[in-house]
Amino acid sequence: MATFVTLNTGARMPVVGLGTWKSPPGKVAEAVKAGITAGYRHIDVAFIYQNEKEVGEGIHAMVKEGVLKREDLFVVSKLWCTFHEKSLVKPACQKTLNDLNLDYLDLYLIHAPFGFKAGEQLFPKDSEGFVIPSDTYFLDTWEAMEELVDAGMVKAIGISNFNREQIEAVLNKPGLKYRPATNQIECHPYLTQENLISYCHSKGISVTAYSPLGSPDRPWAKVEDPCPLDDSSIKAIAEKHKKTAAQVLIRFQIQRNLIVIPKSITPQRIQENVQVFDFELSEEEMKTITGLNRNWRACQMLWGSKHKDFPFKSEF
Ligand code: NDP
Repeated sequence: MATFVTLNTGARMPVVGLGTWKSPPGKVAEAVKAGITAGYRHIDVAFIYQNEKEVGEGIHAMVKEGVLKREDLFVVSKLWCTFHEKSLVKPACQKTLNDLNLDYLDLYLIHAPFGFKAGEQLFPKDSEGFVIPSDTYFLDTWEAMEELVDAGMVKAIGISNFNREQIEAVLNKPGLKYRPATNQIECHPYLTQENLISYCHSKGISVTAYSPLGSPDRPWAKVEDPCPLDDSSIKAIAEKHKKTAAQVLIRFQIQRNLIVIPKSITPQRIQENVQVFDFELSEEEMKTITGLNRNWRACQMLWGSKHKDFPFKSEF
């Protein structure tokens, strides 16, 4: 089993990356260090997680100790929605580079297709709680993303939370210079995303699965919400392989040729989540897991549902 996916840029992206959303600034540097020690060579960060400085500290501590070189690591970050105006893209990327204390990113994503009103507030909302849009369109934002590649600030660019129609719009954009290298989307057995994945793969766009464990620590989680980590079918398969439910959930995505980015700040789990290359799920087990789909989203982003570019209105 390959431990890399080759992107349409020719670069190799490690299939398991360490997620960092909700990893507190006081804990994330240690988590990154534990991850690198455990063998992770891919870290997933974002401006909106507000911990890029500390992630950078973790990376640099390991480089300083001689555990790895910068070029051995694949670092992904994301352009936040308040920076979709073309003139704001480069400064936003520079801020991320400064905070991480890096010269370049391996991959920079448009975090979501919808742009928000620019300004201090990261989630500008109206009186009803809906996000206030910016007067932007992601095809223009994409042009500014392309300029980052030419400026040497990022090696590759991609998208996140884009639906099929939105991806098609990017691919059909007149004068398109660089195709998206990945689409980072929510994906786990309760949201298997088969149609969107096969569309992306048919266009040479890799898919990165976020919230692969169902994001149990998301701030809006309700007790009655389903959790793939607790699913009896997943647990039974795990038991059969003498693995944990988390390992089965991660392995499931790898066997679908996805890149997968579980988050943890717990050293033992960080290790566990990358020990997924010494077993294989059978075709039948893969089918059973795919059959658990119920189109359930952990990250519904309902505050964006009135936005013209809200991605989750269509089937996929
Ligand atoms: P995950 O599905 O990765 O779940 C994280 C939760 O699972 C944490 O509570 C963690 O606990 C727990 N956990 C981790 N490993 C284990 C294990 N082995 N056994 C039991 N529990 C475990 O959720 P995320 O939503 O964080 O998604 C992963 C990453 O994807 C994010 O961190 C982020 O980098 C990215 N992402 C991107 C989005 C986008 O819009 N592009 C949206 C959402 C996520 P603990 O940390 O306490 O160990």
